[in-house]
Amino acid sequence: MIRIPFNKPFFTGKETDYIRESVASGKISGDGLFTKKCHQFFEGRYGFKKALLTTSCTDALEMTAILCDIKPGDEVIAPSFTFVSTVNAFVLRGARVVFADSEATTPNMDVAAIETLVTPRTKVIVPVHYAGVACDMDGILHLARKHNLRVVEDAAQAVDSFYKGKPLGSLGCMATFSFHETKNVIAGEGGMFVANDDALVNRAEIVREKGTNRSAFFRGEVDKYRWVDIGSSFLPSEIIAAFLYAQLEHLDEIQSKRRKLWDHYRQGLEILETKGILQLPRLPDYATNNGHMFYVVCRDLEQRDKLIAHLRSRGILAVFHYQSLHKSPFYEQRHDGRELPNSDRYTDCLLRLPLYYELSDADVGMIVDSVLSFFGQH
Ligand SMILES: *Cc1c(COP(=O)(O)O)cnc(C)c1O
Repeated sequence: MIRIPFNKPFFTGKETDYIRESVASGKISGDGLFTKKCHQFFEGRYGFKKALLTTSCTDALEMTAILCDIKPGDEVIAPSFTFVSTVNAFVLRGARVVFADSEATTPNMDVAAIETLVTPRTKVIVPVHYAGVACDMDGILHLARKHNLRVVEDAAQAVDSFYKGKPLGSLGCMATFSFHETKNVIAGEGGMFVANDDALVNRAEIVREKGTNRSAFFRGEVDKYRWVDIGSSFLPSEIIAAFLYAQLEHLDEIQSKRRKLWDHYRQGLEILETKGILQLPRLPDYATNNGHMFYVVCRDLEQRDKLIAHLRSRGILAVFHYQSLHKSPFYEQRHDGRELPNSDRYTDCLLRLPLYYELSDADVGMIVDSVLSFFGQH
């Protein structure tokens, strides 16, 4: 029996009050009061030029691909060790994905290895801040300037995390966030598009509103709203925004609790890294930790399977993560054949331990002991 699940959604208590408020206001379609409060929260706190809630991070990524004017044959550089939406959004517009390997020390894309992937058809680099830990953004932005490429940050896991003091999501020309129930702040299903370039803001509003200038119409800037571009229905209802706003009010408390649990794991398992038994998450000097995820990297697939079974026998659910996309059933034949050994290593060896707001210190202590006992370290 599972006593400690991998994830448990945390409710701050105000979610249903705010949903009731939005229902009582008589307006539950998108872009109402709670959506505006969420936009202001993110723009105010992190200095994003424009924040726009979407129904998912996947949708926000699809917006970025449209806004980058991706055409068939264009190339996009992205990590192979990521969620499918990071690249599917671009493939939907006809792009070819050129997959980058991960770093040896973190699952983030290895910036030293990506310059050789740039061709005259490359349009975009999509760094993914895995576990909320920043990619080497100076390296990526330098390369982008040199080759005139756009940078879209997949910051799905990276809410309230920083690179050299700058908020993740503020560094690329665009960025995307997720409020899926497995993330730090949640809305069930939900996401956010961010533009950091004024030139993108107008069109982003249009793309998000089915290709119409409806947003400008509601501000009284045009006298009728019309079909002016391609787009889709990317905006969430007020019910989603009301839920999310209740979460945002408790963001600091959520982050500090998660970081505390993360530190507990790190201290408890340090000995395994010191002894060369396991690889633990590494925070580069330029990155902060937002407590999104705690993982260990096992020696091989077999060891990971045994550790999963050992934890399960003690009622603990630990789960592996992404499967290299360059070896996926959909992309394997389209991939250029390069080996991506670090991506494959994280595919086979990375294991995520339970981490959620209501996890107690005692629970973490018990999980740490269970991992230590598996490796014969008491
Ligand atoms: C969660 C996640 C997504 C997808 O988010 P949704 O809101 O579920 O669409 C995309 N990229 C990464 C890196 C993620 O972790």
